[in-house]
Parts: sequence; structure tokens; C-alpha cells
Amino acid sequence: MDKIFCQSCGMPLEHPEDHGTEAGGAPSPDYCHYCYQEGRFPEGQAMEDIIQFNLRFNEENGHPMGSQADAEAMMRAWFPTLKRWRKA
Ligand SMILES: [Zn+2]
Repeated sequence: MDKIFCQSCGMPLEHPEDHGTEAGGAPSPDYCHYCYQEGRFPEGQAMEDIIQFNLRFNEENGHPMGSQADAEAMMRAWFPTLKRWRKA
């Protein structure tokens, strides 16, 4: 089975507690708990904010996503294909 990734920030959804919640509290199949709570995304959160957040995370955690340049290029290519950001 393929890994599931948050369709907003690209975080792997490996454990039940990684998932966000729909309005009413059911687990979201698509989004993580950082991006999606009670059926809502944080006010004003943009793709750029998530890219910058993930780059800081990458820097502070020994570059699990590769060099900063590689990580940024990867996210800029990948994120526009995720469900939240995709233009239908
Ligand atoms: Zn997320």
C-alpha cells in the first residue's frame, strides 16, 4: 500500500493521531492535524507558509528532506499537485 501524505503540507499520515478531524470529530482521510481541525484549515494559511515552515523543520532536524535547495524545489513541484492546492 502506498503511503498517505497530508494533501496540504505533505506530512506522512502514518498513525491515526496524525490525521486531522472533520467537523464533528471524524478523522480526515486527507489532511494532518496541523493543517485541518474540525473541518477547517488555519485562517490565512498559504502554501508559501507551509513551504517556509517545512524548510525550517528540515534545517532543524538534520535535513530529512535533503538540502534546503532540494527540499524547496521538491515542495514547489509537488505541493501544487496536492488536493488542497490543485486548481480543479
Ligand atoms: Zn498537513
